[in-house]
Amino acid sequence: MTFVELCERLQALCSYPLRVTIHENHSAYARVQKINGRTIDLSIHKLFLYSSTPVLQALIRFALHKDFRAKAVIRQMAHLYFTRIQPPIPDPSLSNPQGKNVNLQVMYDQLNQLYFNGEIKVPITWFDTPRYRTFRRITFGSFDRTIPLIRLNRLLDRCEAPLQFVEFIVYHEMLHTVCEARVDLRGRIWVHTPEFRRREALYSHYAFAKRWEKQSLNFFKGLSWQDIASGPILNTEKTALIARKEKFLAEL
Ligand SMILES: [Zn+2]
Repeated sequence: MTFVELCERLQALCSYPLRVTIHENHSAYARVQKINGRTIDLSIHKLFLYSSTPVLQALIRFALHKDFRAKAVIRQMAHLYFTRIQPPIPDPSLSNPQGKNVNLQVMYDQLNQLYFNGEIKVPITWFDTPRYRTFRRITFGSFDRTIPLIRLNRLLDRCEAPLQFVEFIVYHEMLHTVCEARVDLRGRIWVHTPEFRRREALYSHYAFAKRWEKQSLNFFKGLSWQDIASGPILNTEKTALIARKEKFLAEL
């Protein structure tokens, strides 16, 4: 439907005057603001242009009452939109796989041939670690299906992590691009389905990677912030890092 049709349909469902704007920001599908306690300012993702009446009704219920069941309907619609209705086209210019030690594209291409018949087209890149000193948990990789883009934590490039582990993270994120997620009745998205776990275990160094993953937090905690975050690693530092890594692996 057109933007004008969407505004008319939403207005017909709402007793307050509405002011609607459309955005393409993935972080919030619907932002609601009441102006002078009367007019409702709705800033909504363009996915609502493709929505049926029940979804628009849910949007209004969410705007008026912050209804959590309505929120679930919106999240289900968003999932459907991004995976089925308008799957985003991969943009190769987002790819930036060359790290200091690891080229993600080389791993990606090999995995693509070995496990996915070369069919995955999603670009891959690094992301930088946030500046915090103590780790509680580390996000090693992510797949954003709304762009789409696979990102790997640059920590895995700078800390001499075992290549099988880095490759496992790449494989895990690639698997997300082909395994369907499930949406439950509350609108929560489950990405690690039993089918996903079954296929994840097919990775050839799975047992080693999972073992290393469990202990990786201690490994990264053992490194100083400078080791992880700052500039090029000096040779002496590098030797110390490798020794630490070997000691760590020997203890596994
Ligand atoms: Zn995952």
